[in-house]
Amino acid sequence: MSTTVSYPQRTRTEVPGPRSQQLNAERAQYVSASVGSLLPVFIDRAEGSILTDVDGNEFIDFGCGIGVTSLGHGNPAPLTAMIEQAQKFTHTLFTITPYELYVTVSRLLTEITPGDFAKKSVLSSTGAEAIENAVKIARAYTRRNGIAVVDHGYHGRTNLTLGMNYKSQPYSANVGPRPGEIYRIPNSYPFQDGLDGAEAARRSIKLLEKISGAENLACLVIEPIQGEGGIVLPAPGYLETLQAWCNEHGIVIIADEIQTGLGRTGKLFASEHFGLVPDLVVTAKAIAAGIPVSAVTGRAEMMDAIPTGGLSGTFSGNPVGCAAAVEVIEQLRQPGTLERTAEIGERIQRGLRELQQRHAVIGDVRGLGALHGVELVQSDGSPNAAAFGVVAKAAAERGLLVMAGGSDGHVLRLLPQLNISDELIDEALHILDEALATL
Ligand code: PLP
Repeated sequence: MSTTVSYPQRTRTEVPGPRSQQLNAERAQYVSASVGSLLPVFIDRAEGSILTDVDGNEFIDFGCGIGVTSLGHGNPAPLTAMIEQAQKFTHTLFTITPYELYVTVSRLLTEITPGDFAKKSVLSSTGAEAIENAVKIARAYTRRNGIAVVDHGYHGRTNLTLGMNYKSQPYSANVGPRPGEIYRIPNSYPFQDGLDGAEAARRSIKLLEKISGAENLACLVIEPIQGEGGIVLPAPGYLETLQAWCNEHGIVIIADEIQTGLGRTGKLFASEHFGLVPDLVVTAKAIAAGIPVSAVTGRAEMMDAIPTGGLSGTFSGNPVGCAAAVEVIEQLRQPGTLERTAEIGERIQRGLRELQQRHAVIGDVRGLGALHGVELVQSDGSPNAAAFGVVAKAAAERGLLVMAGGSDGHVLRLLPQLNISDELIDEALHILDEALATL
């Protein structure tokens, strides 16, 4: 990061600018206050890694709408496929009259997910819906009820997933009783617990044996790398030890790869970094370039456990989304795509570690590929959420969108485009440097 490099002036007005402020006032009148916005600037258009708001301010998009537009805004192949499909038909409902694209996406997912065994898929619309489907499948297959989940995990905002999330606020406050038969275990969080992976897993297994009993557990639902929880990479050995125990006791392993899957970490699925071979893999977000499509893919005998008609919904496997998904998966399989994402990860991580040398507020830098977290801490090492607020605001004022993560809201969560340019990475790191200096 040479000081001689000059970067473009991305913002033209205060942030939010005057037009966004007007729209925010209107929004306050008409949109439920229960819906938040991290950066309340109204977006007019987006291309590649750049968002442009209604005041002409540009933001380097280090969020991708939480890892959705992974191949860049307006990526031509999925966009063209969506338009062509929309001109043919936008909906029939696969459970009324099927169409080939649903089958193609299901097959592609069986090909790219980990595990060398017969697989099938079921498509749905949102991540939380797919998590619910996966749990239903595991319960029907095992004829058991218990669901094991992990501290700092996040799985959605439907009723069942509210019970599976670690944080109650703001998700499940005052909205009624949470569902039962959900057992929570500690994750592996090397920066906070200092445990090696196998040790952390043994601690969790001991707890599960006590509070649930293996024989009551249908499934373990786990993010191989926690996203909302603060980009927490488990110590080596954690997932492997849990996997061995689940396999021994017939507990279905459900990998929530909604945020980490489809190339985000420089491999098709984050599970692959840890040798984890889940029985069921849940995908959503990046699969269809912004159209809501989600899926459960896994062992064929499990995927057939629910009677015909028991899965699906009106919008499940929308054909326009499926057309995009075929192109997204195709691009991810092109030689060089994932290698480039891994390279991006190394560049980002190198830059963040340099920032860590200069800014004492950075306690930890971690991540893989286009998925990184920067844990901000107080001088005693405890979470520093206030610092996140200051840094995110200063970054936005300079034209960089970063997201929050961590159960204490103290982790800068960075999810840039999987094929972002080196120039934009360097510019984003430069902005982060300036933003951290405002603390
Ligand atoms: N699981 C993980 C790991 C997620 O990151 C998310 C969304 O952020 C979900 C589940 C829920 O997905 P959706 O918001 O599409 O319901």
